[in-house]
Amino acid sequence: MNPIFANLPTSVFEVMSRLARETGAVNLGQGFPDDPGPEDVRRKAAEAVVEGWNQYPPMMGLPELRAAVATHYGRWQNLDLDPETEVMVTSGATEALAGALLALIEPGDEVVLFEPMYDAYLPLVRRAGGVPRFVTLQPPRFGLTEAALAQAFTPKTKVVLFNNPLNPTATVFSPEDLALLAQFCVRHDAVAVCDEVWEHVVFDGRRHQPLMALPGMRERTVKIGSAGKIFSLTGWKVGFICAAPALMRSLAKAHQFLTFTTPPNLQTAVAYGLAKEDAYFESLRRDLAYSRDRFTAGLQDLGFTVIPSEGTYFLNIDIRPLGESDDTAFCRRLVLDHGVAAIPVSAFYADGAVKNVVRFCFAKRDATLDAALERLAGVIRRAA
Ligand code: PMP
Ligand code: GLN
Repeated sequence: MNPIFANLPTSVFEVMSRLARETGAVNLGQGFPDDPGPEDVRRKAAEAVVEGWNQYPPMMGLPELRAAVATHYGRWQNLDLDPETEVMVTSGATEALAGALLALIEPGDEVVLFEPMYDAYLPLVRRAGGVPRFVTLQPPRFGLTEAALAQAFTPKTKVVLFNNPLNPTATVFSPEDLALLAQFCVRHDAVAVCDEVWEHVVFDGRRHQPLMALPGMRERTVKIGSAGKIFSLTGWKVGFICAAPALMRSLAKAHQFLTFTTPPNLQTAVAYGLAKEDAYFESLRRDLAYSRDRFTAGLQDLGFTVIPSEGTYFLNIDIRPLGESDDTAFCRRLVLDHGVAAIPVSAFYADGAVKNVVRFCFAKRDATLDAALERLAGVIRRAA
């Protein structure tokens, strides 16, 4: 067996959701919304299952979805993408990431990763033969610095894997951060693989800036998105990958032997959804910002120390003021003794460097958040 996978623990998201199911806990761990997703988009998928084509769609994705992705990014992010040569549909962002890393990395190439990082990144980089070079982002800003990038980039740097907005810290990188990263990518002739699945979930009037739009980046960026996040349909696993034709040719070769295609009916529905009026996307942000504010206020009223959330549907608490120093042990007690599942942020570090931060998903109905808060009050009583 290959030791990279054989020695891995089960993903923390799966572990926490299983514990939540077994114990009847309120599940604010794995990120998925209570909201069932827009009904018109779901009906479009149902209609396409019953009336439409259920055989293999084209390997690159349905032409209507590739066109919808290009138009959507033109409208929302001022990108000019050719749907024929620069857009491919994948089975979620996870497949897009796996394919991109397999296609771009040769054994021994260095890959710059930013900690905390999404749990899939490191095993996928290693399995592709990449040598990780970490930049550890520092709270509270979790921003980039010239010094940190300078120690991570070397003449062997091939790929930079960058997640913005950042899960789990709920950070949206500043224009200065993006400019700095772009300069390093250009200077080192590196390809940026940009996981932008949270691009629509940004708060307080922010607008997502794709790294691809920065000077020198158009030809060296692989941009990854996911309908799961845009439409609150995380189980659908419809993703997209955008890149200049020279990169896309290799990305497509990896995709053709990973999943080859993605269910056509879901692609039809996502194409319809991406063309929805601005009001849909604005109400998604407004509703999530409302839940963020409600949950933040509830936690603060109880006495928890909340780290502000700028994007994604997660927020974090610092558990040090509770006298806690082990997020994993804390989360186990939280789910087993108090009935609330959360995610220990140390799972997002290669060496578990940070152990005092715990992530909650707030994309939930008021009643779910209130039930969680009621149970969390017990944590404070016990700490007092
Ligand atoms: N990247 C990040 C940063 C994520 O948060 C997620 C899922 N929450 C994914 C990738 C996976 O996306 P998908 O479900 O489309 O594979
Ligand atoms: N990305 C989701 C999260 O951060 C989980 C996805 C998964 O379970 N693999 O919660």
